[in-house]
Amino acid sequence: MYRTNTCGELRVEHCGTEVILAGWVQRIRDLGAMTFIDLRDRYGITQLVTDEKTDAGIREQAATLGREFVIQVKGKVRERSSKNKQLPTGDIEVEISAIKVLSPSILPPFTIQNDTDGGDDLRMKYRYLDLRRPAVQQNLFLRARIAQATRNYLSEKGFIEVETPVMIKSTPEGARDFVVPSRMNPGEFYALPQSPQIFKQLLMVAGFDKYFQIVKCFRDEDLRADRQPEFTQIDCEMSFVEQEDVLNTFEGLTRHLLLEILGVETGAFPRLSYGGAMENYGSDKPDIRFGMKIVDLTSSARGKGFPVFDGAEYVGGICAEGCGEYTRKQLDELTEWIKRPQIGARGLIYLKMNENGTIRSSIDKYFNSEELKDLAFHFRARAGDLILVIPGEREKTLTALGNLRLEMGNRLGLRPKGTFQPLWVVDFPLLEWNEENGRWSAMHHPFTSPKPEDIPLLDSDPGKVRANAYDLVINGVEIGGGSVRIFDAALQSAMFKVLGFTPEQAEAQFGFLMNAFKYGAPPHAGIAFGFDRLVSMFAGLDSIRDVIAFPKNNSGRDVMNDSPSPISEEQLKELFLTIQQPPK
Ligand code: ASP
Repeated sequence: MYRTNTCGELRVEHCGTEVILAGWVQRIRDLGAMTFIDLRDRYGITQLVTDEKTDAGIREQAATLGREFVIQVKGKVRERSSKNKQLPTGDIEVEISAIKVLSPSILPPFTIQNDTDGGDDLRMKYRYLDLRRPAVQQNLFLRARIAQATRNYLSEKGFIEVETPVMIKSTPEGARDFVVPSRMNPGEFYALPQSPQIFKQLLMVAGFDKYFQIVKCFRDEDLRADRQPEFTQIDCEMSFVEQEDVLNTFEGLTRHLLLEILGVETGAFPRLSYGGAMENYGSDKPDIRFGMKIVDLTSSARGKGFPVFDGAEYVGGICAEGCGEYTRKQLDELTEWIKRPQIGARGLIYLKMNENGTIRSSIDKYFNSEELKDLAFHFRARAGDLILVIPGEREKTLTALGNLRLEMGNRLGLRPKGTFQPLWVVDFPLLEWNEENGRWSAMHHPFTSPKPEDIPLLDSDPGKVRANAYDLVINGVEIGGGSVRIFDAALQSAMFKVLGFTPEQAEAQFGFLMNAFKYGAPPHAGIAFGFDRLVSMFAGLDSIRDVIAFPKNNSGRDVMNDSPSPISEEQLKELFLTIQQPPK
């Protein structure tokens, strides 16, 4: 038997018992007469001790141990004279009567404890050591609990977990595919799924009624803090349902997870239309934990002789409560902030609400005090507030204001961790204009159903067509999205046509799906949650990397095993591949 107990288990009631423990040496304190060793495993830390009464041979052996040695010790549990209240096992220690080194360790490159001295890169390179740190382990335990709770909830609701293939024909979700060459079919490739979209729809055609899968998806796109080339989704599909049924089911799942995992109770999730979200929050994933809604000033701001407003398609602003004391320097800095390419606004106009009821602004030259008061009235601004106004092209300006709103929300502490405000965003446009390719592309994906009443607009005014598509947003983060699907072959081919596919291309790529629809397809709808994002939000972390056991870095590399990496000439030959230009 390797151990009788774990390192997190022993308490005062165990005093006097003989135990065997195994684990990693976290820390050794040699006090001369006494030596303390902290022994760590997944379950906790237990203090081991040798003193004058300990056999000299064992004391010698203890002196040869180093950090991260894997050892097995035998000993008797005794009450500590000075207790450690921080540690669940802090009332006891184990008097060592035998030590066995199971595996020695060379000096680790950083300390294996929560506040480690290891930088990001080093910790990624030695991820298996980083994963020994309790804080990192906690994230993965949380992940496993959320996965389990999800499985339980959905299984109880009658969902069947079905595995779909990883080597597939491309499914478009708006990113590039990762591809896998086929040795047996020279010159041909599989794609890794961007999602199991088509398969889950085919499962509905096959009569499975309710499907789910906690599944890896792969998207070759530029990486950001909350993106990984491979990530996990809670993927679902349901038959004979409408949008309402999907929203209710997954609102239920989300509330269940918040309550079961975090003990957080949430009321019914509010719903916002895409248009409303953009107009009021400048984002299709608004953080509604705080107000500071965007106010449209276009009609009041134009026509007062201020060329910047007069020439703008849209003028909008937000009111930051209590920021009226902002200094020139702070305002300049904010202006620089919104001018950064990521935000891209051209300028920022401010109105400061003074205590004496007057208003100081950067447009005093063009607006008299009555006109300024009229602008401020739109915000119901009070003394001490700061109104920030941006003019410009409507959509860009709304987005810039949305970003500014989040920034001010951060500065004012209105976005605290540990509070959760989910909502549904519904009524997305079906299509968006793709400048680069000069054609329409699907805002969600090509299998999303238009709202039936908007179908006639598909030919005449495609940009106006709304989709039966929905997103679940929590605290300004898109946690999931889905849609009611097209289940009619003719409508699906009409959709491909709008998206610029020739009938031949549509047939070659999606013929099997449209064909399947000819054999009796049930109305169906579904959704997928970004599992990594959900877990990192529950953990109160900003990046999904910390909730993934072996993540990639920002360039999509696994720096631990140094991949991606070249393959041998022989492998290339077998696959009939030639590398045109060896990457630098
Ligand atoms: N396949 C979609 C996605 O990955 C989700 C869905 O429509 O169910 O975003």
